[in-house]
Amino acid sequence: MNTPENTSKTSSAAVEKTDAQWREALTPEEFRVLRQAGTERPYTGEYWDTHTEGVYQCRACGSQLFTSKEKFDSHCGWPSFWAPLAEGTVRYLHDRTMGMDRVEVRCATCDSHLGHVFDGEGYDTPTDQRFCINSISLRLVNPEES
Ligand SMILES: [Zn+2]
Repeated sequence: MNTPENTSKTSSAAVEKTDAQWREALTPEEFRVLRQAGTERPYTGEYWDTHTEGVYQCRACGSQLFTSKEKFDSHCGWPSFWAPLAEGTVRYLHDRTMGMDRVEVRCATCDSHLGHVFDGEGYDTPTDQRFCINSISLRLVNPEES
């Protein structure tokens, strides 16, 4: 397969692959969430109830996105963070699908879908934001293991 696919979407992502390349690199479920903006079922993901320390990387490109220090228990069924690891590691898009007005969160490096961010839900966190992220979009790397 070396026919280049025409990607008409303009993107400033540093890591760019065609759909075919992503399909090869990811499992079908990872592809569905990361590249087709799917959502894993709540309470089914790997990290929604994880308290292990470490860095959460983008499962598609390995870019560092969140850390366990900003993770908190929102009991929503998905891993929740009150801030990304650093400004510029994620980017935001307006998402008006499914009859809702939401802000989508994507990896700034490879433009993969991560989840959504919600404001003002009254959580006792420094930002009052909840980055509601699919476990399958992330990979937790424990510094002691690497
Ligand atoms: Zn990425």
